[in-house]
Amino acid sequence: MENWGGFLMKFSKKKISSMFAVTLLVTSAFGFSFADSETVNITILQTSDMHGRIYSHDYATDSSDSDAGLVKIQTLIKQERAANENTILIDTGDTVQDNSAELFNDQPVHPMIQAMNEMDYDVWTIGNHEFNFEKSFLEKNIETFEGTVLSANTYKEGTDERWLDAYEIFEFEGVRVAVVGMLPPNIPLWEASAPSHFEGLEFTGTLEETGKVVAELEGKYDVLVGAYHLGPEGDHGFEGVEAIAEAYPQFDVIFMGHSHSKYTNEVNGVKLIEPGKYGWALGTADIEVVKNGDVYEVASVEVENLESKPVDADEEMLETFKYVHDQSVADANTIVGKITSDFIATPDYITGEDDITTMPTAQLEDTAVIDLINDVQMFYTKADVSSAALFNLGSNLKEGDFKKKDVAFIYKYPNTLVGVNITGENLKKYMEWSASYYNTYEEGDLTVSFNPDIRGYNYDMFSGLTYDVDVTEEAGNRIENIKFNGQALEMNKVYKLAVNNYRFGTLMGLELVTVDDKYYDSYDLMQDAGRIRDLIIKYTVEEKGGILNPEVDNNWEITGDDFNKIMQEKVFGLVREGKLTIPTSEDGRTSNVEALNMNELIKEGLLSMNTYTVRSGDMLWKIAKTYGMKWEDLANLNEMADPNLLVPGQEIIVPAQ
Ligand SMILES: [Zn+2]
Repeated sequence: MENWGGFLMKFSKKKISSMFAVTLLVTSAFGFSFADSETVNITILQTSDMHGRIYSHDYATDSSDSDAGLVKIQTLIKQERAANENTILIDTGDTVQDNSAELFNDQPVHPMIQAMNEMDYDVWTIGNHEFNFEKSFLEKNIETFEGTVLSANTYKEGTDERWLDAYEIFEFEGVRVAVVGMLPPNIPLWEASAPSHFEGLEFTGTLEETGKVVAELEGKYDVLVGAYHLGPEGDHGFEGVEAIAEAYPQFDVIFMGHSHSKYTNEVNGVKLIEPGKYGWALGTADIEVVKNGDVYEVASVEVENLESKPVDADEEMLETFKYVHDQSVADANTIVGKITSDFIATPDYITGEDDITTMPTAQLEDTAVIDLINDVQMFYTKADVSSAALFNLGSNLKEGDFKKKDVAFIYKYPNTLVGVNITGENLKKYMEWSASYYNTYEEGDLTVSFNPDIRGYNYDMFSGLTYDVDVTEEAGNRIENIKFNGQALEMNKVYKLAVNNYRFGTLMGLELVTVDDKYYDSYDLMQDAGRIRDLIIKYTVEEKGGILNPEVDNNWEITGDDFNKIMQEKVFGLVREGKLTIPTSEDGRTSNVEALNMNELIKEGLLSMNTYTVRSGDMLWKIAKTYGMKWEDLANLNEMADPNLLVPGQEIIVPAQ
């Protein structure tokens, strides 16, 4: 111990239990402690991107979410604290926003801050979503949080003075643990339409600021910990945590956030961990520090995401925050309008049921659900064309009250709306990109199926123009007869297209548009109220007088080979009886990944067959017609070399009637 004075001073201001301080003082003063082999174990615990999840409940859909919530995280924290009292508890931001958290913004202490205080959080690194509201709201949250709030790369505008602390140093049995916090510096871009949210502040680059802090901390720590609201990769020109670890191996571990990844890794000897979002897991790092002479050295760092799914919620937390849950559920059930009749009559294409077990109707034909989303998007962006995907295969609006939560059923994600200029040529490319979702028709197919490598949310359906999707063609060459106001799409003309913010990113990635082509951004204009979900409600209330009628214009259809209707009905019957299932992708994420093929079903013995004896004067097409088949299929089925050559007495295989 080189500096007792410094030690005592630190004891008085850092968070160390007094019992610890006394033990350490006594043993050290008598000089019989700190043998060479002495080790200190420190556990660091982290949450990130909680986005307003106290209870394990998603209020947009009013459904419980067993992978979420501080109430479950608290159970894990109590376990970890019982196992090791040398703990630091950190939250890395995007905390007081989303999941109806804004209902409580006027409360003196926001429930999310109240929860963090109850749970005894030591550090809170603010995230970008903390800036979604007026700056005074964030200031109140910072003031009322009882731990240390960090943000190394946030400065008072035009000065070298930081707005918040860059780091905090904790001590455990003499081991000094420095925790550095940082956020993605793009706040001015993301909050461009509301500069008052970050008034008087400026933000510096993550890599350069890390270098600065590491230099400032030199000689002050034994363990260096990052608490970054930043994912593995950067974007918009700033570096992510992997690049930071590459440049600064001084870190022992960096806790991450922002990208919502379920992630552990090691880069350049630095352990990295991100615990997903909403409380999917408690991020943990078990750090073993060994004393070598006068220095403490980190012997090992083990990182692990402890998932919240298997644990029960903490009873005390449930009790304390019941008022938040009750008020949020009530809000989700607020009636915003009336639905005059079901938007999709037969959500499952084969069974007609609400539950999708075979194929979703809404990815095989135009529906009132997709048309409503596209109508809303075109209304606010004043676009010519709009695209929307079916995020939830069972999406529907059912006759009756239209409640706030119902909109999340047809629009699962909190996306915002973008209007973008695009040439006819690039619009067609985008439509082709989307239509690659379908598998190419093969001889004998009775159904249209989906490419298992493409997620369903990447299949966009378009409004504002008419078109066909010919699935007998290969991907990239399927969109036909595109007409805008009855006229052929002009390749060189610029059209206004409405998409969600994610698809705007996709289109930039595909180099079909640039950032300069964006002419409308609902987030810039309305922030959280500019979410497509909220716009659907706004449109219903303000433009439709609260009355939603299912309207579908059938502006597109799947074309190509005529499916054998008789055989198709036979096979659908087998599916309904449970004798045949529609295959799902191995990972379970894409339904209907393989077409039901007549020829294969016959070969597998799933379609019962008879033999037919050819009589004189028979022709193959006539026989085929009797069985609801095409002559080509019948010829294939019987492996006929020459379909024109039928010999009386010859036996051929036909479907059993
Ligand atoms: Zn987040």
